[in-house]
Amino acid sequence: MASTSSYSSSPCAACKFLRRKCMPDCIFAPYFPPEEPQKFANVHKIFGASNVSKLLNEVPPHQREDAVNSLAYEAEARIKDPVYGCVGAISVLQRQVMRLQKELDATNADLFRYTCNEMPTTQPAGAGIRRINEAAAGASSYPQSSVYYYNPSPWNNDLCGDGYQRGGDNNM
Ligand SMILES: [Zn+2]
Repeated sequence: MASTSSYSSSPCAACKFLRRKCMPDCIFAPYFPPEEPQKFANVHKIFGASNVSKLLNEVPPHQREDAVNSLAYEAEARIKDPVYGCVGAISVLQRQVMRLQKELDATNADLFRYTCNEMPTTQPAGAGIRRINEAAAGASSYPQSSVYYYNPSPWNNDLCGDGYQRGGDNNM
């Protein structure tokens, strides 16, 4: 058998599955090629062919392919996981994002702590940091302090101020 590149000779996957004649204006044909029979089988099992047909008719032609890909993804997920469907995948990813966000926060806190511990107190930069912290603390009462407060660098975070002693006593 030759390659199935022309839809006129071979019915689309939907019409083949539904055992009907595939007409030239078949709404399924562009999105359910005969070489992907499982795609239509899944979508039909979960949503039903007539619902898919209605849905495609309500969607503008340039968005139909996206709609079919979405339906196929959702149908496959629902078949694999009858309870949660694609929501199962989404919640796994959401938990992963939350876990990674916590990990990132903890790593950033460690990074701040190490940077604060290594900050040389004799350098003018140290005095600068103190001034920035003072500026941040009393920003409302000292209008000129906004010059120091302006720099949005994360190293100006007050973890270097009140929360942690620089150098000195907790040096390892
Ligand atoms: Zn067809």
